[in-house]
Amino acid sequence: MKMSKLFVQTLREFPSDAEVISHKMLARAGYIRKLTSGVYNFLPLMWRVLKKVENIVRDEMDKAGAQELLMPFVQPKELWIESGRWEAYGKELMRLKDRHNREMCLGPTHEEIITSIARDVLKSYKQLPTNLYQIQSKFRDEVRPRFGLLRGREFIMKDAYSFATSQEELDKEYANMWQAYTNIFNRCGLATKAVQSDSGAIGGSVSHEFMVITDTDAGENDVFYCDDCDYAANSNHAVSKLPQTVVEGNFEKTEIVDTPNTHSIEELCEYLNIPATIILKTLVYIVDKKPVLALIRGDKQVEETKLLNAVEGMEIRIATAGEIEELMQNNGFNAIAGFIGPKGFKDVTIIADNTVKELKNFVVGVNQNDKHMVGANFDDLALADVKFEDIRLVEAGELCPQCGKPLKVTRGIEVGNIFQLGTKYSKPMNAVYLDADGKAKPYIMGCYGIGISRTAAAAVEAHHDDWGIKWPLAIAPYHVVIVPVSTKDELQMSVATKMYEELLAAGVETVLDDRDERPGVKFKDADLIGFPYRITVGKTINEGNVEFVVRATGEKTAIKPEEAVKNVIEEVQKIK
Ligand code: ATP
Ligand code: MG
Repeated sequence: MKMSKLFVQTLREFPSDAEVISHKMLARAGYIRKLTSGVYNFLPLMWRVLKKVENIVRDEMDKAGAQELLMPFVQPKELWIESGRWEAYGKELMRLKDRHNREMCLGPTHEEIITSIARDVLKSYKQLPTNLYQIQSKFRDEVRPRFGLLRGREFIMKDAYSFATSQEELDKEYANMWQAYTNIFNRCGLATKAVQSDSGAIGGSVSHEFMVITDTDAGENDVFYCDDCDYAANSNHAVSKLPQTVVEGNFEKTEIVDTPNTHSIEELCEYLNIPATIILKTLVYIVDKKPVLALIRGDKQVEETKLLNAVEGMEIRIATAGEIEELMQNNGFNAIAGFIGPKGFKDVTIIADNTVKELKNFVVGVNQNDKHMVGANFDDLALADVKFEDIRLVEAGELCPQCGKPLKVTRGIEVGNIFQLGTKYSKPMNAVYLDADGKAKPYIMGCYGIGISRTAAAAVEAHHDDWGIKWPLAIAPYHVVIVPVSTKDELQMSVATKMYEELLAAGVETVLDDRDERPGVKFKDADLIGFPYRITVGKTINEGNVEFVVRATGEKTAIKPEEAVKNVIEEVQKIK
């Protein structure tokens, strides 16, 4: 490809709405153009990268024994009613009606469709296990599309679904996919960590996310991990052991005392001269429009996904001051936040964190302003109905649940996710096969996703410098750029053209920068676009040398043109 013909316009500035590096660089280097919120055009450079990621994914999935198919992007409501997700999926599901007023949705994921195919075809245990996958655009009407390709509304995903006759068979396929994912991300030049995670809207019990670890804002997940063993989990699923601490107060009796202006835990601790660990904190959340009280130790935070799972809800948020006021009035109280306690509420769901069980002789709000109960015990609260669950957000320094060493925290970008679904879809959708005894049984399913476009963007997050992208060779849009310093210099141009032709003939994806531009401009563009190798043909060609530059390391060497060509061919052969 000649640079003069390449469909690319690099920009002087980063787009104003770009917050993270990959969005900034992909837009500025001419890979993507935004069409509307969370929806991007993949321009030719980007499309080359995405096809490479896709082909690595395809190759490894095929090697792992999965078979590719392609399902429709538009899906009928009926199947979603069968699975129960038409109601349960929430607003991310983009619903629409056709001209006959039939309700449809844009596919955010394809469990319903694949299960409907399987139940028609996979009728005997002899056809199982089977794994089917596709690579396709998905649409999720995300609340906050942001970070360019990392969180779009329309994006490309590989989704695979396995069907098995037993848990053991599913475990085997799960491990098989785990290995395929490890191979895929390695080949894409991405270091990933597999972490335990919550199963979210997909459902199921066991699931792991493949995270690209980053210390930037682009990592939307907090990952807790242990250096001493292999424990790693998303914050929405992480558990820990707590270091020994005071959980018993030394109040002489149970009584209600004045605690003026103690609106926060800190103020209350200071006023009563106690540690936060002996306070029972009551927080008001709104889950699917209804109030839920969450009880947790004063020094700990609630993990919202865990709380949401505990009440089997869909949407969760902390209550506003107005909602708290309404809840208090409905229960005959007039206390404000800071003085709320669980005692005396009618018909409100109450979830207490497991660690609350250990509290003794503690401090708790009593729904009266400027007052608290001290020396309280759980029985004093007379709660008719309370459910104990793990709803606690783990903190760095708490102890690893496996080996007891302190946990660390980092941020991660989720590029892939594997789930054990069990019979979550096959049961309600009556998707069954006949076993050896002729008995109908639901499939034991798994599903396995990789964000193709997110993986490409994550590669930019992981590989760049101030000047631009440093693509790993296997997913770079082109392998090498040849830059003649002066296109008017006959020797420079003839050497550059000869190398260009040799590289093309050897199957190396090569760009020749034939533009009559200043060398500085050409070098800047080459760095921004991120070609893994650059061969510069300048004045030193008079002594027989070109400059060979490795983008990843910045290493520059003066070598013969033949050697430069050989180097690149050898590197490219390694990734084939
Ligand atoms: P997230 O938690 O980031 O919203 P998810 O867990 O809902 O993602 P999955 O249902 O597990 O996503 O989808 C499989 C993969 O698809 C994810 O691991 C991710 O790589 C990719 N993906 C999901 N949502 C998006 C999105 N909005 N934009 C780009 N890629 C996405
Ligand atoms: Mg996920």
